[in-house]
Amino acid sequence: MLVVSVTPGADAGAVQAALVARGLWVQRLEAGGRVQFVVEPCSRAVARDAILALPGVEAAFAAAPAHPRMDAQPAQVVVAGVAIGGGAPPVVMAGPCSVESEAQIEAAAARVAAAGAGFLRGGAFKPRTSPYAFQGHGERALGWMRRAADRHGLRVVTEVMSAEAGPLVAEHADLLQIGSRNMQNFALLAAAARLGRPVLLKRGMAATVEEWLLAGEYLLVHGAPAVILCERGVRGFDPSTRNLLDLGAVALLAGVHRVPVIVDPSHAVGRRDLIVPLARAALAVGAAGLLVETHADAGHALSDGPQALDPDEMSALMSALGSKQHG
Ligand code: PEP
Ligand code: MN
Repeated sequence: MLVVSVTPGADAGAVQAALVARGLWVQRLEAGGRVQFVVEPCSRAVARDAILALPGVEAAFAAAPAHPRMDAQPAQVVVAGVAIGGGAPPVVMAGPCSVESEAQIEAAAARVAAAGAGFLRGGAFKPRTSPYAFQGHGERALGWMRRAADRHGLRVVTEVMSAEAGPLVAEHADLLQIGSRNMQNFALLAAAARLGRPVLLKRGMAATVEEWLLAGEYLLVHGAPAVILCERGVRGFDPSTRNLLDLGAVALLAGVHRVPVIVDPSHAVGRRDLIVPLARAALAVGAAGLLVETHADAGHALSDGPQALDPDEMSALMSALGSKQHG
């Protein structure tokens, strides 16, 4: 981002008009009697020399980037041999919300692999709104999921909820998920990053894109080898859908920031009948892949049943996307 300083005593309004006339969108900053204009990224590309040549311009320099590591991360990252983003085929991460039993996750892995997904998802440690709700089977579930994934050639993505459980989760997962509710739990971000695994960072339910990128920066600063973002809907005003899927943010992150973004239509809408159209829309705006919940008996699911596709619907989704995933 470019910052333009106005020469002391010069007509700042005239400088602003000259910048705007050249197609730049600027934001005026004033401090200690000095005026500066921050050039917004959506501006037309104008050479720095041309800006310096304008009357009343003292200097034009690049502002220190807020999240240099996120900016420098390549558009494509590789997780356990699977390329994500940067033109790679869309990656699908699918499985139940919660790992409920060994038999359940084995059956889910078989169906997910047969449908052509690349990753098995499932919660072992569950962040539940109510303390009376099912909290996950913890360590046992991690073992069940890892073995099921290995039997079917899948990678594992699962949530890390606490620093204490981190090493155990990292032992079983290829990709560590940071849940929405923890996006700005900075101590957890640092601890998760130190585990040395790539991280899937879900967007906080009221987080701006900038806050989300800065949370990603925390992960990279503390040693995470790669960060993939996951848009899962933000809090909206309308209860017709569980959350509000922000595809504009996905387009911005994928197309402008060049960060790999996975879209989770399941948590975004909270109802299975809207998963397929939103999955298609997500890929159309540049998502690197999808995170989708699926359950063989959604009516009895221990969490998030209403948004889970049954295995046949999951296979139909994959056919609709026309993609076979990495095995
Ligand atoms: C989940 O993936 O099951 C989950 C709890 O997601 P989120 O953090 O987006 O609510
Ligand atoms: Mn869920």
